[in-house]
Amino acid sequence: MKYISTRGQTDPVSFSEAVAIGLAPDGGLYLPEALPDLGEEMKGWEGLTYEETCLSFLKHFATDVDCGALAELVDESYRGFAVEDRAPVRQLDENLWVLELFHGPTLAFKDFALQLLGNLYAHQIQRTGRPLNVLVATSGDTGAAAIQGLLGKKGVNIFILYPNGKIAPLQERQMTCTGADNVFPLAIEGNFDDAQLALKETFSDQDFKREVNLSAVNSINLARLLAQCVYYIFSYWQLPEGVRDLAKFVVPTGNFGNVLSGWMAQKAGLPLKSFRVATNQNDILHRLFSTGIYRAHQVTASLAPSMDIQVASNFERFLFYFLGGNGDKVRSVMSSIRKSGVYFFEGFDTDTLSSSRTDDHDIRKIICAVFERYGYVIDPHTACGFTQMDDEHPQLILSTAHPAKFPDTLAECTGNEPTHPSLEVLKSKPETKFEVPAQADAIKTFIREHV
Ligand SMILES: *Cc1c(COP(=O)(O)O)cnc(C)c1O
Repeated sequence: MKYISTRGQTDPVSFSEAVAIGLAPDGGLYLPEALPDLGEEMKGWEGLTYEETCLSFLKHFATDVDCGALAELVDESYRGFAVEDRAPVRQLDENLWVLELFHGPTLAFKDFALQLLGNLYAHQIQRTGRPLNVLVATSGDTGAAAIQGLLGKKGVNIFILYPNGKIAPLQERQMTCTGADNVFPLAIEGNFDDAQLALKETFSDQDFKREVNLSAVNSINLARLLAQCVYYIFSYWQLPEGVRDLAKFVVPTGNFGNVLSGWMAQKAGLPLKSFRVATNQNDILHRLFSTGIYRAHQVTASLAPSMDIQVASNFERFLFYFLGGNGDKVRSVMSSIRKSGVYFFEGFDTDTLSSSRTDDHDIRKIICAVFERYGYVIDPHTACGFTQMDDEHPQLILSTAHPAKFPDTLAECTGNEPTHPSLEVLKSKPETKFEVPAQADAIKTFIREHV
């Protein structure tokens, strides 16, 4: 299997190359040159463990990684999860299920992808003997998950850009209190979009990239997308038989990586019915899917900070498929969006991909209501999924973070501050962070000085 860029101006590369490169040299994102039809094969995956499902799926994509090595990487990646089935499905009501994706080391769904990515990197460094520097932009959870994925791995430094003062305190501590000497948290001025822009600019300097062997762990990395397909497949089989093909998968969304993985699993033959893109008050994707108009607004800080995003980087991958796989068209639409900040789309299949919006006021109400009705505690990101409730039709809501990551909001809503042992220990550890302007030059200088 080869991987091509959404912008169509680079030669196809192998899986390992695409993972190592991150952003394609033409500025596009990597995608499989063709999605295999695994529909028939997936019918045999009922009852497999999470790891078995993962390996069965990934071996079609990671075709240049030795199968035995891949099996080991997969096992290693999910060993640190707190529950045996890794991604448990819980039924809350007759037509309502929750997929708990927060049992990994940093208590957010990003562990599913970043544990695997960390091991893929380590495997590659071992093979090539070339040290790697990883640059990440995060609105909160990616940074922590990337660190946990790479902690203690030889030959990797990790630089994390995050908006200073705009992420939850415990999320920040997960990044700044690791005590690891290969981890550099860079607190930048501005919001997440500023961080992402600075990251893109840094990556666009090809000479610098080569000089320090730079790679991205962002939601743009191909391996993340593929790793996330697995829990859609796994949870499909955990739903009752009569429900599987009818359930709507509801996905709290920011950068559009999570829901895109589900959508790609569907395109690869998993018979999922539909998805709902659940945004918070930063609702560009909700406005897009409900009106066809793509128009970025200012980002406002919300109670669900990992979704405080207006420019969803993975949208470009969706666009590639939507535009019939035509890289020229993708380039032209992206450049038009860059110039004017707006684009009018027609013909989205909103039966398959619908959307919703939940503001802070409703997030609070929902957390209270779900707790009162089901005695079940959800975090503010997951709360964005619990809207447009529909008793008649089955829904499976992806729960993307553990509520203990957001103790203040939870205490306000339920009267109880949820805790988790892995977060408690952070509170007494010293913090290390570096304040840097959101400019590529400043970031490059910092990296050069620290490798
Ligand atoms: C990252 C994150 C999201 C958004 O996921 P995307 O793949 O960026 O759409 C939602 N909830 C939590 C808790 C997150 O960490």
